Amino acid sequence: MEFNKFKVSSLMDITARPDLVFLRGHGSWLEDDTGKKYLDFIQGWAVNCLGHSPKEVVNALSEQSRLLINPSPAFYNKPSVELATSLVDASCFDHVFFANSGAEANEGAIKLARKWGKVHKKGAYKIITMKDSFHGRTLATMSASGKPGWDSIFPPRMEGFIKAGLNDIESVKELIDDDVVAIMLEPVQGEAGVIPSDKKFMQDLRKIADLNNLLLIVDEVQTGMGRTGTLFAYQQYDIVPDIMTLGKGIGGGIPLSALLARDSVCVFSHGDQGGTYNGNPLCTAVGLSVLNAINNSNFMKSVVVNSDFLSQGLSNISDKYDMNGERGMGLLRALVLNSDDAPAIVELARNSGPTGLLLNAPRSNLLRFMPALNVSKDEISLMLEMLDNLISKILKR
Ligand SMILES: *Cc1c(COP(=O)(O)O)cnc(C)c1O
Repeated sequence: MEFNKFKVSSLMDITARPDLVFLRGHGSWLEDDTGKKYLDFIQGWAVNCLGHSPKEVVNALSEQSRLLINPSPAFYNKPSVELATSLVDASCFDHVFFANSGAEANEGAIKLARKWGKVHKKGAYKIITMKDSFHGRTLATMSASGKPGWDSIFPPRMEGFIKAGLNDIESVKELIDDDVVAIMLEPVQGEAGVIPSDKKFMQDLRKIADLNNLLLIVDEVQTGMGRTGTLFAYQQYDIVPDIMTLGKGIGGGIPLSALLARDSVCVFSHGDQGGTYNGNPLCTAVGLSVLNAINNSNFMKSVVVNSDFLSQGLSNISDKYDMNGERGMGLLRALVLNSDDAPAIVELARNSGPTGLLLNAPRSNLLRFMPALNVSKDEISLMLEMLDNLISKILKR
């Protein structure tokens, strides 16, 4: 495909992309180069927590870019100190390391756990992670992930990640030996198809970790920053993790992620961890404006109200078409179909006119919904109405 004489093939071919180019975004809406509008329930993969180009992000970018963009990570800067303090105040953690992507934050969590094992646990280094989990696309985080098929793409795999089953506490216990240093999981497995861990499982993991002197690491790259109806998902499990990673929503669309840890775990020596862009004032200023927008009870209440409304609507559709229900936490939800039509629905939804709808199918029998956290009730109603029509069209085929 050509776009204004520019070739899309100049981009490395790493995924199947539809033949359209997006030019503009506002709130829950995207507009392509032909002027067609799309209701967006992907939002950059649960990234744009305040929608497309929200005033908070736009203002922070323009104001901070005039003041200071990057003095280097070797010096303190105001927005990074402010954002770190706000995150510490809002969580059970004591210190923050900023990074640029979820995978990079998880790499940091893995390094921190291994260093802690070296210092405090006779060199223990193995990390128990979950089958079907997703922790990123670097070599270490791919090895940590339990995504089917990922064990053989870029051999050799990084050693030291052993897999248990989500919500299967016995499978975790079986793996524990003297070399294990940590347990790492997503409170809700996102890429696997929105599968929440049970409260009992999470609490048992905390107990087992305490009993065996292990660290509990929660990967909240997708579930953090209000996505599940509380600022962080771990807060709904009544547990205190040792390490947490954030990504996606924390930047409201720009590249920012964070590694948070309790004081006793922070064993990095100078030089162990760093990065050219890490904690730069431009991105942390955006993070601060995003956190300020969502970290208040009114905003969080509206997320819960919206997610109840979305959940009810999806469950009505499931009943109407005899599907297998809906699930999720907050505004991270999935509709479980009774067929493998999810990719066909995604395609038809995008191509339908005059208004398109953007959905995601992480599995062939499953649709995932991750709208902006400030999506309106009307936009949810419109999405549900469009979805209902699409499903009935697909069934008639
Ligand atoms: C998206 C995601 C990541 C990876 O984040 P990137 O910014 O793409 O590196 C890691 N963990 C979870 C749970 C995610 O959803």
